[in-house]
Amino acid sequence: SLFGLPGQEAHERVLLATDEQTGLKAILAVHSTARGPAFGGCRVWAYDNELAALNDALRLSQGMSLKNALADLPFGGGKAVIIKPAGTFDRPALFAAFGRAVESLQGAYITAEDVGTTTADMRGMQAQTRYVSGIPREGAFGGDPSPKTAWGVFVSIQAGVRLHLGRESLQGVRVALQGLGAVGWHLAEFLHKAGAQLVVADVDAAKVARAQAELGAQALGVLDILSADVDVLAPCALGASLNAQTIPTLRAQLVAGAANNQLATTEDGDTLQRRGICYLPDYLVNAGGIISVAREYRNEGEESAVMAEVSRIGDRVAELLDRVKREDSTPARVADAWARAKLVKPA
Ligand code: NAD
Repeated sequence: SLFGLPGQEAHERVLLATDEQTGLKAILAVHSTARGPAFGGCRVWAYDNELAALNDALRLSQGMSLKNALADLPFGGGKAVIIKPAGTFDRPALFAAFGRAVESLQGAYITAEDVGTTTADMRGMQAQTRYVSGIPREGAFGGDPSPKTAWGVFVSIQAGVRLHLGRESLQGVRVALQGLGAVGWHLAEFLHKAGAQLVVADVDAAKVARAQAELGAQALGVLDILSADVDVLAPCALGASLNAQTIPTLRAQLVAGAANNQLATTEDGDTLQRRGICYLPDYLVNAGGIISVAREYRNEGEESAVMAEVSRIGDRVAELLDRVKREDSTPARVADAWARAKLVKPA
């Protein structure tokens, strides 16, 4: 449906924004403003077709509603995607046009970084709109959210390893990382420091070589990383990596990573559970970045307060696994119900 995902509630608003001069084709999806203005990043991607872009925007914005609710943020869920123009294009002009589209929603949607966008893109938009975050500030925290996202995933892995694998430390725990980008690289560093053994894959060979040299990581091909013989799998590339084809090949006992929309379908979460694999829902564990840009947007607190708030994601993982036991359900289903119950204005 153009109005929402099959079987899910409709989006409040979806704006298709175009600008002939710059080649902008953007989809700004506002899933829910029940908790407050919809907050979520902007992705730039070369989609196969426009429907694929719409589907991505709808899936991502719904995920933001759940993510912001579980993180107890006073924001709803939204997301934007810009279909990457073919060939060379004037990037500042493209983002200026996108900024005007964000402004036209008059605060119903607030944007920030995602895959394919940078702090420079966000800064460049400030002339067009104030509904933008993730911009480095002199003498205050803010800017690139990816280290905070990585920290949230790290504390989630720590909690999952303790509660599902029964191991008190990450020393010697084998972790496979799919994707060594903005989040994946920081996560790899945190894991390496904690004594984990890394197995990594990225389509960018230079990133893999760097992880081998600096973090003692073992390299695997992109087609082999999901079935690596490891304790933990951390998908940190793009979505839908956990599907009917890949799940039977997994050897990890715990899955926790930064990538949005890792499960192709809800039923894939059931299959993981049947295989004894503990899947920590992406929108629970990867909320560190939105916590950072949300605090920055509200001009609240300091770096240490942001980190403390991000660290609480580990406590939520423990609560989730406790609920899963009590309700005899799966992490994906419990997290979904838990988040949806919070899709109301915070007290
Ligand atoms: P990024 O573009 O910096 O990194 C993605 C990395 O994955 C790149 O290095 C890319 O080469 C690699 N990659 C792509 N396809 C691959 C494949 N098939 N196999 C292995 N590697 C592959 O993006 P990012 O900001 O690190 O985000 C990663 C994921 O986390 C995305 O799904 C994003 O939506 C999600 N996420 C990011 C943040 C954040 O703070 N940046 C927050 C929440 C969620």
